[in-house]
Amino acid sequence: MATSAQEWWERAQRVIPGGVNSPVRSFKNVGGAPFLVRSGRGAYVTTEDGRTLVDYVMSWGPLLLGHAHPAVVEAASKAAADGLSFGAPTVAEVELAEMLCGALPGFDVVRMVNSGTEATMSALRVARAATGRSKVVKFTGCYHGHHDSLLIRAGSGAATFGVPDSAGVPERLAELTMTVPYNDLGAVRQVFREWGPEIAAVIVEPVAGNMGTVLPVPGFLEGLRQVTAEAGALLVLDEVMTGFRVAWGGAQVRYGIRPDLTCLAKVIGGGLPVAAYGGRRELMELVAPLGPVYQAGTLSGNPVGMAAGLAQLRTVGGPAFYGPLEDAAQALGRGLEEAARRHGVALSTVVAGGMLSVFFAEAAPVNFDEVARTDDRAFRRFFHALLDEGIFWPPSPYETAFVSSAHDPAVVEKTLAAAERAFTVVAAG
Ligand SMILES: *Cc1c(COP(=O)(O)O)cnc(C)c1O
Repeated sequence: MATSAQEWWERAQRVIPGGVNSPVRSFKNVGGAPFLVRSGRGAYVTTEDGRTLVDYVMSWGPLLLGHAHPAVVEAASKAAADGLSFGAPTVAEVELAEMLCGALPGFDVVRMVNSGTEATMSALRVARAATGRSKVVKFTGCYHGHHDSLLIRAGSGAATFGVPDSAGVPERLAELTMTVPYNDLGAVRQVFREWGPEIAAVIVEPVAGNMGTVLPVPGFLEGLRQVTAEAGALLVLDEVMTGFRVAWGGAQVRYGIRPDLTCLAKVIGGGLPVAAYGGRRELMELVAPLGPVYQAGTLSGNPVGMAAGLAQLRTVGGPAFYGPLEDAAQALGRGLEEAARRHGVALSTVVAGGMLSVFFAEAAPVNFDEVARTDDRAFRRFFHALLDEGIFWPPSPYETAFVSSAHDPAVVEKTLAAAERAFTVVAAG
């Protein structure tokens, strides 16, 4: 007899921590058991128990064209047939690097890696090497991957020194990372007044996406650019989520900010493990083999990943793609707010390109504390009610939903019809 989806989930939990290879997949934030996915096409996934769901997780961001887009699948398949990995240079790496350098003002030179975590870890190493300084500044609620220097949260009270946000991160390392509230330029200036000569870099999500979507307030990014330049520190934009997601290139194009270093992943791999970090030529020439900063990768620039990323970006084609994408996200956001209002539920939505968040609150949050004060009980009810209606929303109030070009008006309509019923459940409390 065939193994049932339930049996697979039980087997998963016996051999994989929590049954998942990345924690948010476990539904820990919303309760209940996750489903296993069998396949995906366009805006839909099909589960192992045979349900077809509209998907707003979209692999957490990479799938700008939807699941299994023919151009991406064909390019990856063709590359795979020619050999899965060489550990020697290929044409596809040059083509993707040229495309990225053409699209991002912040890229003169770019190095491919395999995950967003690796990209931010490496960018910080370059920043520390370039400045000869060791402290970094990050923002509460921004996520930059799971390496030790950035798995840090704010300490208690007024202290700006971070404390480990995970067991196993040494406190002495955490002390090198200072944490301030998102959108709070005054707090950044204060940290620089106190520690300026020791600060190597400020790292920021230019549109925050890992506490739900939180937009930068006017002047915030410009202020970071100015403060870092004045202090001889580097500005690192973590565009792992926003790169080619909120604009062609990324948020640096949308907001006109020129960083010293930029990190990319997600969209640039088309669904395969591809990431990159890059920046000004003289900074990136510090990286081996040219310079003293060591960074390497057996599978970096993998030909199948390069082919998938190139095919996705070539299909996207340029800036014109993003108007209709954002229109779809806005239509969904507006529709959700209107439906919530009809049911007397307080809801605000935030959209940037193909990023969309719902917050159960009257107004859109501007920082992590405000996100934390939204109604997560209402979110859990909303999530499960939508899932019952065939819509897979990200299983956490701290995650962003992703709209792809496959989320056409019919998909948006279907989602809004489901949401109308879901808000009845939310309103019932
Ligand atoms: C997803 C994400 C990362 C981590 O990328 P991984 O590929 O999961 O290691 C880093 N920064 C941001 C802004 C992200 O959204």
